[in-house]
Amino acid sequence: MKKGYLILFACFYLSLPAFTSAGEWRWFKGNTHCHANRSDGDVHPLQVVQWYQEHDYHFIVITDHNTLTDVSLLDQNGSADGFILIPGIEVSDASEGKPVHLNAINIHSDLKPQTGKDKVETLQNNIDAIRAAGAVPQINHPNWLWAFDHIEMSQLTQVPLLEIYNMSFNCNNFGAGGKPGMEEIWDNILSKGIVLYGVAADDAHDYTGEFNSRRSNPGTCWIMVRAEELTPDSIVRALETGDFYSIVGILLKDIRITNESYTISIDPVSQMHYTTTFIGENGRILKEDYSLEPSYTLKGDELYVRARIFASSGEFACTQPYFPEKKSDDRRAPRSD
Ligand SMILES: [Zn+2]
Ligand SMILES: [Zn+2]
Repeated sequence: MKKGYLILFACFYLSLPAFTSAGEWRWFKGNTHCHANRSDGDVHPLQVVQWYQEHDYHFIVITDHNTLTDVSLLDQNGSADGFILIPGIEVSDASEGKPVHLNAINIHSDLKPQTGKDKVETLQNNIDAIRAAGAVPQINHPNWLWAFDHIEMSQLTQVPLLEIYNMSFNCNNFGAGGKPGMEEIWDNILSKGIVLYGVAADDAHDYTGEFNSRRSNPGTCWIMVRAEELTPDSIVRALETGDFYSIVGILLKDIRITNESYTISIDPVSQMHYTTTFIGENGRILKEDYSLEPSYTLKGDELYVRARIFASSGEFACTQPYFPEKKSDDRRAPRSD
């Protein structure tokens, strides 16, 4: 978001054989949403790459407004240096006087806003166009200018990702004054049985000058993706299947989900205390756990279970919803009509 432009997170470990042997997968630190000066970011794409490489990221998606950046010129050695660029665009549309922004992740051709007669049609037309281009759609910052909420988003198909935390200025991640926060909106969608994964992204624009909460700086939040290798295809496959978690500071060692339990291993910081809240339908709290290995035993009647880990520092992380009633193949495969 930002300036004149109008403008989903954690992970499934399903005890699949491919992931059970140590060393066959890794966590990769990434960001699916940031800008350079091809639109309203304040530095050249090369400086964007430099910032994220210097801060231990493994991948980023540069998503300038309605502008595709040629990443082949920025990333000529692939993953040899432990860092890749995935091509992207922030498709920046508007409807009913509100911004309608979606990221096209791993897109290889230009894509213009599709518009529509209302917000729902505008969202869906852009999602369909992103899919037709072979890319993955991500709904961006619904609470920026209070653009749309669960009522509109529950009508959408073919979209796996929703930004639940966008820490750029004015994205209203947290509810206040009678307005719902993004996790509440997300729970409202999940409670309709819709599988939608929550993403945290910094939506960086401001790489120079002072870093503060009234600006849109890089590094404020990100995702950790579990994949077998650092390639665009491998990362995108993990995003499509929810094999990642969203992080505003807390690192996790592991997430293990079976038909019996949902268990997390926290990577602790000395002297910090943690509360993990397991959350179900309509945002209901299923269990609170203060340990470093929080676990929830499934009763079998939950529509979905997800977790939020909160630290005494104020940092937190969110893991992805698990729907016990859905077959594992359904959960992991890209959705299609
Ligand atoms: Zn935006
Ligand atoms: Zn943006």
